[in-house]
Amino acid sequence: MADVQVRNERADQLVEAAEGLFAAEVMSHSGHANLSARLDDDSFLLTPGFVRGLRPENLATVSLDGQVRAGQLQSVSAEITAMHSTVYRIRPQVGAIIHTHSPAATAFAVAHRPLPCRTEPMLRFGQAEDVPVVPWGPRGSDVSVRGIAEVLERRTTTAAVLLANHGLLVFGPDPAATAHLLVAIEESAEAELAAAAIGGAVDFPEGAVEAVRAAIARVAS
Ligand SMILES: [Zn+2]
Repeated sequence: MADVQVRNERADQLVEAAEGLFAAEVMSHSGHANLSARLDDDSFLLTPGFVRGLRPENLATVSLDGQVRAGQLQSVSAEITAMHSTVYRIRPQVGAIIHTHSPAATAFAVAHRPLPCRTEPMLRFGQAEDVPVVPWGPRGSDVSVRGIAEVLERRTTTAAVLLANHGLLVFGPDPAATAHLLVAIEESAEAELAAAAIGGAVDFPEGAVEAVRAAIARVAS
């Protein structure tokens, strides 16, 4: 069982991240989202099925094989457990995951268009490549979860995926970094859509993205 202090710390970080995402207006208009944070090799904290007015004590502890060990999940959250546990399993360094339907990023998901990396914040917050699209599968289904796993295995450095006809899934070392990347991705999607009206977004100069990628690799190693 995860340490109580670690649990409380992660829970506070998740609540803060959720509040920050509402304040930044990047959450789904419905308020639908789910956030999680890894506790140890075998378990993570997961939002119970709502995120508005979230309190640390509302978070459930779930094992990587989907068993609820403490707290309660509404059926809506029980369905998406595998979406989170798959990412934790494939990416041992991932400490937090956020899923929501940020409107501009969801436009790319609906259009089945990868979101290019063409803004400074996206580079800075760790997505120095396009955000790939995972083929559609019913929410939380085996097809959907397998699709996420396949894309993550192929795209070993992406920190986010678009879920076709659905929304966005972002992951990072901790809740704050993951939330910052989500904001950067939504801003990039908005900028891409706005730029389309004035001739279209333009790539970084040749070599710029590769240079940042190399710098990120140096810091990570
Ligand atoms: Zn969703």
